[in-house]
Amino acid sequence: MYFAQSLAGHTDILSHFFGLPLPHAPAALDDAIIIGLDAEWFTRGEIKHVTELGIAILDPTNHHAYTDDSELVKFMEVFHARIIPNAHLVNRRAGAHADKFLFGTTKFITLEEAEQLLTQAFCRPKANGYGYRPVILLGHAVDNDTQLLQENFGVDLREFGTIIKTIDTQIMAEEVGVQSDSPLIGLKDLLKWFGIQEKYLHTAGNDIVYTMAVALLLSSYPDMDVGYAIYRGLEELKVNGTLVPTAASWGITVFCTKCNSTSHMANNCSVGVTCFKCVQNPRNAHCAHTHMTEKCIAMDIENRTPTPDSRADPCTLCMMSGDFKRWSKAQTHVMENCAWARRLLRGPSQRTSNGLERSAVLRAQSSTQWGGGSEEWVEFRRW
Ligand SMILES: [Zn+2]
Ligand SMILES: [Zn+2]
Ligand SMILES: [Zn+2]
Repeated sequence: MYFAQSLAGHTDILSHFFGLPLPHAPAALDDAIIIGLDAEWFTRGEIKHVTELGIAILDPTNHHAYTDDSELVKFMEVFHARIIPNAHLVNRRAGAHADKFLFGTTKFITLEEAEQLLTQAFCRPKANGYGYRPVILLGHAVDNDTQLLQENFGVDLREFGTIIKTIDTQIMAEEVGVQSDSPLIGLKDLLKWFGIQEKYLHTAGNDIVYTMAVALLLSSYPDMDVGYAIYRGLEELKVNGTLVPTAASWGITVFCTKCNSTSHMANNCSVGVTCFKCVQNPRNAHCAHTHMTEKCIAMDIENRTPTPDSRADPCTLCMMSGDFKRWSKAQTHVMENCAWARRLLRGPSQRTSNGLERSAVLRAQSSTQWGGGSEEWVEFRRW
């Protein structure tokens, strides 16, 4: 059933459904559905949050009923979902357009609904009711996405046991001989190669529809008739949406990423919000009224990458310091690990001429019961 050792290329497998059957193809292949998957994510430092999911599903068993190849695109099931707890996160990189889905209605969904959406897509019961239909997973640099889904939703697509083959349009492009400046061609360049220009890429829903279209174009290349039909299908999908009735009841269409209201969108939001984390931090105070505490990126970074010190009491030495730099870092470490105190200990002048203060630091560091009013504190204050 698996093609791991098969010599069939990524392009051959897709062509199988569209007029060029693979010789000796396993029967499972003919019952397979093709699922395109794309994820967009917010990234900063160690943090990677999935912000959008794009899913496009093509059922080749319906192909015989289509009157022309444009219907391959028009009968695609298309989903664009923004993940509610992450939807406010926007990468600084220009060109992200989460609100510009071109092929239907964007839904805002919870993490649980994201998991359900993926499960429903990848576990479609067979017509006879026994087991699930085999899946050909299609994407553009799809390995990055599947790994991220596992990290974010705890969904390991492979564990569904339905994926019989993963197809990547970057590899298809190579097989077809699309020239590219970089070893792995980007979606934008791949579209350009077929004469398609799109302003709103990096929106998961748009990217996956285009990825699916490009896969169809690559698998039918150089058949110009199919090519034009796919192009026409795309244009009609944009205007009319998918022809597949979608039963999906999950998700909401109106959600404010700023105040969490479900009656307006962020661009119409007039609700005042405050981040109580940023309000207290002189460095971030200027943006404290642009977001809610729960949506604070600074807080998120702090929560997700806990250092051993962040759970402990702040460094009292730095808390009491008149130096702004030290004060602002007081929450990041405990006194025992205070770099400023350590620097003082190492400094040659302290070692030679200020032995008293050095021993005070040592005493303070070794004392867990150390308090602001103790004898040691008097000595520290002299720094
Ligand atoms: Zn709002
Ligand atoms: Zn904040
Ligand atoms: Zn300190």
